[in-house]
Amino acid sequence: MTMSTTGTKAGHEIAAVSALEILDSRGRPTLQVSVTLTDGTTAVAGVPSGASTGSREAVERRDHDAARYGGLGVLDAVQAVRGEIAELLTGRSWHDLADIDAGMIELDGTPGKSRLGANAVVGTSMACARALARSQGRELWEWLAPAGVSPRLPVPHFNVINGGVHAPNPLDFQEFMVAPLGAKSLPEAIRAGAEVYAALRALLAGKGYATGLGDEGGFAPEISEPEEALELLVTAIADAGYAAGPDGVAIALDPASSEFRGRDGRYHVAGQALSSAEMIERYAQIVDRFPVWLIEDGLAEDDWEGWVELTSRLGDRVQLVGDDIFVTNPAIIAEAIERGVGNAALIKVNQIGTVTETLEALATCRRGRYAQFVSHRSGETTDTFIADLAVGSGSGELKTGAPARGERVAKYNRLLEIAAAEPGLSYGLPHVALKPRG
Ligand code: PGA
Ligand code: ZN
Repeated sequence: MTMSTTGTKAGHEIAAVSALEILDSRGRPTLQVSVTLTDGTTAVAGVPSGASTGSREAVERRDHDAARYGGLGVLDAVQAVRGEIAELLTGRSWHDLADIDAGMIELDGTPGKSRLGANAVVGTSMACARALARSQGRELWEWLAPAGVSPRLPVPHFNVINGGVHAPNPLDFQEFMVAPLGAKSLPEAIRAGAEVYAALRALLAGKGYATGLGDEGGFAPEISEPEEALELLVTAIADAGYAAGPDGVAIALDPASSEFRGRDGRYHVAGQALSSAEMIERYAQIVDRFPVWLIEDGLAEDDWEGWVELTSRLGDRVQLVGDDIFVTNPAIIAEAIERGVGNAALIKVNQIGTVTETLEALATCRRGRYAQFVSHRSGETTDTFIADLAVGSGSGELKTGAPARGERVAKYNRLLEIAAAEPGLSYGLPHVALKPRG
């Protein structure tokens, strides 16, 4: 019998499962799920929620009662946890988390977890993971680490300029991140991110731009050309005293291009309507001109042919991450690996809906030598699960917004806490991640 890392041979018994409707960082309702084991261990989890979602994501359940929260209430999902899910989980003994997650998937019975609600299921899965780890006296990151994988502290990717659906400015690209690839340790990387953020604030204010923030805590200046945002970033990196590039602070982009691809099949960027080939050319020029080491969702989720072309053009120079196109789905990632689409996957627990399937997506990437970029959502709580997931999976890369705003900083602070408690943990990009050009 093989022993799972996320369980023991002994059965786990769950005494109680409950949920509460709470607010996320955008002031929208989400769930907090709590699980109590029969040994008395209790754990809670907060459920994140995206705004630029992929069409094949697991489906979050909303009440659609226009009289409450504009229809965004989650009381039905809360009821699913307190009712059907609690009844299932407290009714028998469970071998491990995979067993629990499989039980919930079977109970739901739909491909996208839409009946119970992916928000109800993922919150329960996360709370169970935490409770099982705690009851075994282990840190969550350690407990999540699969056999044969070395945990490591990830390079934090700070989203310091927000656009797209995360901000009201005319910037079509959604995220401009700084990645302190040259930092020698996690605390130094955190410091670099915060110092660049401060320098960027001063730079923007000096140029007369508003310094209001987008949903992920980055600035949302009134600019539209992505290259202009990149110029500002390069200046801010230098102003903060760092080299712009792989030896200091590099740049990562998430254009989230599914959001600006029109029905005409063209990419609408700063007033231009670009074909897939023209969009690829634009990225090639950006990569030549700026120290951009990673591009996520450069092309839209339904533009697989364009993705193949993008990958053959830039895949040996840039990490090309699939988010909306892969939705953390192991089967889709396997197909992408087969077809040479991208070279990395974004990993979001609520996109697939259980911790077990998320671990499978990570394993699929490792087998196919695709890098794994662990991620928050634009709507977050102070839950820090993804910090532990990034460390335990050894992925070496995490994005969780700006180095500002409580729900973003909570994850970075959790990394600092892990780093302080475990001085022996490695830090930085793992071998599989494409090494940036010098
Ligand atoms: P979302 O955006 O959480 O709003 O979906 C994050 C991303 O696109 O990476
Ligand atoms: Zn994305």
